[in-house]
Amino acid sequence: MTWEAVIGLEVHAQMLTVTKIFCGCSTRFGSEPNAQTCQICIGMPGVLPVLNRRALEFAVRTGLATNCTIAEYSRFARKNYFYPDLPKGYQISQYEHPICEHGHLEIVIDGTVKRIGITRIHMEEDAGKNVHEGAGAFSYVDLNRTGVPLMEIVSEPDIRSPKEAAEYMRKLRSIVRYLGVCDGNLEQGSLRCDANVSVRPAGQKEFGTRAEIKNINSFRYVEKAIEYEIKRQIRVIEDGGNVVQETRLWNADKGITESMRSKEEAHDYRYFPDPDLVPIMVDRKQIEDMRTSLPELPDAKRHRFVTDFGLPEYDAYLLTAERSTAEWFEAAVAAGAPAKAASNWIMGDLMKLLNEENRSFDDCPIKPQQLAGMLQLIDKGTISGKIAKSVFDEMYRTGRDADIIVKEQGLVQISDSTAIEKVVEEILAKNPKEVERFKAGDEKLLGFFVGQAMKATKGKANPQMLNDLLKKMLS
Ligand code: ADP
Ligand code: MG
Ligand code: ZN
Repeated sequence: MTWEAVIGLEVHAQMLTVTKIFCGCSTRFGSEPNAQTCQICIGMPGVLPVLNRRALEFAVRTGLATNCTIAEYSRFARKNYFYPDLPKGYQISQYEHPICEHGHLEIVIDGTVKRIGITRIHMEEDAGKNVHEGAGAFSYVDLNRTGVPLMEIVSEPDIRSPKEAAEYMRKLRSIVRYLGVCDGNLEQGSLRCDANVSVRPAGQKEFGTRAEIKNINSFRYVEKAIEYEIKRQIRVIEDGGNVVQETRLWNADKGITESMRSKEEAHDYRYFPDPDLVPIMVDRKQIEDMRTSLPELPDAKRHRFVTDFGLPEYDAYLLTAERSTAEWFEAAVAAGAPAKAASNWIMGDLMKLLNEENRSFDDCPIKPQQLAGMLQLIDKGTISGKIAKSVFDEMYRTGRDADIIVKEQGLVQISDSTAIEKVVEEILAKNPKEVERFKAGDEKLLGFFVGQAMKATKGKANPQMLNDLLKKMLS
């Protein structure tokens, strides 16, 4: 029996507003507990919440960027439950009338494009945080996070593998970061994901019973948790049992999912429209204005990089995942860098160096114009591609221009054929046995001679000239 997994993700994205969703308190992270609270966000009786215009705008922008229909009429609902980090006894969310519906986004899996449906995006407020560590016999409640604006982005059950789930998540992250509506930081919880997973015999139409996995906070864990859960469900069924609908927690230490609560224990939230908040009306004109003000998004950029710069799909995909990378690349090309060469240096050496230091292209020590400058030195034959590697490292370390580094360190390529000829003569004279073997047909030895000549010139001999001369003088 072969099995097919069916997956749908619910992603919570913390919006990058300066103030909370229904009051003027700051959303800044890391302040003294409860320093950023007021009567409204802790829900004192008689107060009136007012929607943060910016939060609405961010949700609409996200909806537009994911091909959703924006509701001209939407409203907030109360989701009722008790927990110490929720002093009001209800969370303000959206239920029957979410702000965005019926969207989709595209992911690329093994070179093919796949569309994943987005059921809805709604706005809601975050809850507070219970603090148990370092408190001795006590637990504390920190309400700074209460009322921080969130978007919940719910996907259709269109995802079929752990890899697709991680790609979907990456794409969402890329989009919200392009829009500037969320910083996309999984570790700090600005982007959180619950995964709904079920399995069915391949070819069957109906979905199987799903389990929902919470507590997933990295791309690696998205894949691992879902992978584990699929295997677990298949095992349960093949052993003659039934998958039960339940909420499970990902235990990263053990690498397994564990039951948290079953359907019977699930909350009945008794949603009802929030009487304190007026319905939200967004007219067509406002929606269209926001649509035209959207930045160029990753997919559009990717297509343009392929058509305008002739880049392979793979390069274009990598370069456009982050807006700062894409803009850095375009600045380098604008400064005269050949596109493919720039792409190679960015995807190779530069990303490696930046990753090692956990830096982004926003604070890259090399300026795009400096890469263009170095590539011109290669083009003109001033330095070889090999020497360029060390020039590049030096540029990264010191922030200085390539031509200055090359001059100071005497790295100019030797393209004078008499000079190279002299070096080759010496090497051939020093290695008569190898010359004999080469002439007897052992052509692999060419590499040996090239190595010797490069050593003698400290890597500065023009590789093309050296090769040509060697072949000529050995024949
Ligand atoms: P709830 O709010 O109770 O979690 P929803 O109907 O909103 O339920 O669904 C939540 C998520 O579960 C959605 O992303 C949806 O695509 C996904 N989903 C629904 N049914 C299944 C299923 N049988 N297998 C996997 N995912 C599913
Ligand atoms: Mg759910
Ligand atoms: Zn407040």
